[in-house]
Amino acid sequence: MPAFAKKTIKKTDVVLKIRAPHYIISGDKIQLKESKKIVRSDEDLGAVPAAVYKEMGKMKARNLKIDRDSDIGCPQCNKIFYTSCLEHPLFWVPNKVDRRVKGPYTHKTLPTNFFRVSDEGHKGQGVRAIRDIPTGLVFGPYEGIKTKAEDCKNPDYSWDVEVNGLKLAVDAKEKGNWLSLVNSPDYKRGGNIAPFQHKGEMYYLVKKPVKKGEELLVWYGDAFGRRLARWRKKAEKEQQ
Ligand SMILES: [Zn+2]
Repeated sequence: MPAFAKKTIKKTDVVLKIRAPHYIISGDKIQLKESKKIVRSDEDLGAVPAAVYKEMGKMKARNLKIDRDSDIGCPQCNKIFYTSCLEHPLFWVPNKVDRRVKGPYTHKTLPTNFFRVSDEGHKGQGVRAIRDIPTGLVFGPYEGIKTKAEDCKNPDYSWDVEVNGLKLAVDAKEKGNWLSLVNSPDYKRGGNIAPFQHKGEMYYLVKKPVKKGEELLVWYGDAFGRRLARWRKKAEKEQQ
């Protein structure tokens, strides 16, 4: 590059020198690119270190016991991998806090390049996409106060995780991040998010492409589904 060309690079145009494959969002898919130079833009999601890339696509033998806490299942292939499916790679979007955002912690932690907080009537607040979201994005972990599962006071705001045989609940009622705003669909099949446990924490995986404007929905479990059906009926009656 000639010396004068340097001046045209703005501070915001960071050229990352990452010698590893990286993910690119292309339409509603995440593609892996082998190129060694990344120009940072909205479409660049990040890089996979060479060591991780080498492990991707390595399947776990069927006769080995599945370790729910560390193995990664691909919902599209229905197979278990050590790190990630190579055909359907996962991109982990780490939690971030934007202190400049006014409002509760749930709003400060929302990834605003993907989502907005929405008003969902009798369900309260929800989360909607502001751009097309491809499958394979992983958000989390789900934050909250960890208690023993049997001591959990707010099951509707909690996920159960199992760590070394110990059943714990992550209760987001008091200290939850934006993931606790994601509503449940009315029926199990209506969700676009698959919750899964990894290394003692709960994460939300985008399992179906989410179109711009659509609500994120995660199935909270059958017991919650039954309560939801009762609330829905009640809300419908009140509207009549
Ligand atoms: Zn797959």
